[in-house]
Amino acid sequence: MSDNDITTEVVIIGAGPAGLFQVFELGLLGIKSHVVDSLKQPGGQCTELYPDKPIYDIPALPICGAQELVDRLMQQIKPFGAQLHLGEEAVQLTKQDNGRFRVVTAAGTVFDAGAVVIAAGVGSFQPRRLAVEGVETFEGRQIHYRVKDVTEFHGRKLVIFGGGDSALDWTLALAPKASSIALVHRRAEFRGAPASVAQLRALERDGKLRFIEGLAQAVDSEADTLQGVHVKDASGELHRLDAEHLLVFFGLAPKLGPIAEWGLEIDKRAIKVDTEKFESNIPGVFAIGDINTYPGKKKLILSGFHEAALASFAIQHHLYPAKKQFLQYTTTSPAMQKRLGVATA
Ligand SMILES: Cc1cc2nc3c(=O)[nH]c(=O)nc-3n(C[C@H](O)[C@H](O)[C@H](O)COP(=O)(O)OP(=O)(O)OC[C@H]3O[C@@H](n4cnc5c(N)ncnc54)[C@H](O)[C@@H]3O)c2cc1C
Repeated sequence: MSDNDITTEVVIIGAGPAGLFQVFELGLLGIKSHVVDSLKQPGGQCTELYPDKPIYDIPALPICGAQELVDRLMQQIKPFGAQLHLGEEAVQLTKQDNGRFRVVTAAGTVFDAGAVVIAAGVGSFQPRRLAVEGVETFEGRQIHYRVKDVTEFHGRKLVIFGGGDSALDWTLALAPKASSIALVHRRAEFRGAPASVAQLRALERDGKLRFIEGLAQAVDSEADTLQGVHVKDASGELHRLDAEHLLVFFGLAPKLGPIAEWGLEIDKRAIKVDTEKFESNIPGVFAIGDINTYPGKKKLILSGFHEAALASFAIQHHLYPAKKQFLQYTTTSPAMQKRLGVATA
């Protein structure tokens, strides 16, 4: 263990609705947690896939926007001060000789935890890659799925792929800065904001942007340096575009990823758990929400909330086996009210 390791009672992998509510349920029992998510914002599928859609099956909330649900959960867990480590994928989980767990993220954060809750939903969201042979040689160097340092693209020959807001926004932002810029999208229609589409059409009319309705066919390189890309347009004609950088914005897709390698019993991309504790085949590792499976499992937010409540008692028992457990109500428990910061006396 190094000095920089974070020692905690529980690490929760996944900041979707289930992971966030797990913070709350553990907090009520006085158990502290850290949360890790590969996305830059909390909320899982709710935030990433349907933030503006209304949800109608959250108890006592006849209608609740998906982002609103996440905002409410964030407010509800505030009293417990759980640290959220966002933009960090959990890549390693190992049980140590002392029975505790070592969780490592891609960003190098190391946790030493008494228990782990995997609330990883449908997996960690990864950018959809350009489906062309040989791209891996250039990824991170000349083929990019996100923009880290925009100045890298100033004065360069760029080809952007995609038809959503990210593709449109970056095309508009980089058009005045690039030495040349082309946008390639498989359809003539865009999914981005109408105002962005209008600006894009104006750039194309003024000859400042080349647009091709088509698909990438192959990359062109010389001595490990990308020189261009071949694109087949809607009529089947091939075009070669000069390029120093390709920026690809095809959205994010969930992948089970590293979780599959942690020695967990997995059935159809989901972690097998019991329905008393929601514990996996590894004692001390629990799984809640869309990532788990058991007879009768339904992938609903409500199910994740129930699982988080029951798992928290099992986690308390795992961490403190000698501690006597009893059910307390938030309405009447002074201890819980103190933890919630609402105690009057
Ligand atoms: C369009 C749509 C509409 C829906 N409508 C409803 C509805 O009306 N009612 C309802 O109950 N349900 C609905 N659902 C389903 C609901 O969104 C899911 O059941 C819910 O989001 C599951 O929550 P979760 O916390 O288990 O997982 P998720 O929301 O998937 O969150 C999991 C999180 O874990 C992170 N993660 C995964 N692996 C790692 C890793 N290795 N390291 C770090 N982070 C990781 C992911 O990045 C993600 O943020 C809908 C789903 C969709 C797509």
